[in-house]
Amino acid sequence: MSIRINDASCVGCRRCAEVCPGNLIRIVDRKAVIRREKDCWGCTSCLKECRNGAILFFLGADIGGKGSVLSVEEKGDIRTWTVTGSDGTKKEIAVNMKESNRY
Ligand code: SF4
Ligand code: SF4
Repeated sequence: MSIRINDASCVGCRRCAEVCPGNLIRIVDRKAVIRREKDCWGCTSCLKECRNGAILFFLGADIGGKGSVLSVEEKGDIRTWTVTGSDGTKKEIAVNMKESNRY
């Protein structure tokens, strides 16, 4: 598991670097860079913090991801997780964050 950072969308705001529990992201020339990709344990904190959609999370074959990628978009209270398959198909899961801890 690991993330990929899209240079073209990254504005170097550091939000991802500040939340990574493994201190795996640094800013180089105003762009986020992940070091030691294999150490990423997939907590997705950086995806949720990035306001530019610059980070994608790769879902490995070991968890049935078959090369699909996960991205996150936030609008108001709604956080939408999108899984894009290797064939381009998309599945979306929208979560109202104000209700996400209700049982
Ligand atoms: S949070 Fe997003 S835009 Fe900001 S530095 Fe990280 S990847 Fe770049
Ligand atoms: S998914 Fe978690 S561990 Fe991996 S780079 Fe992002 S914040 Fe760090």
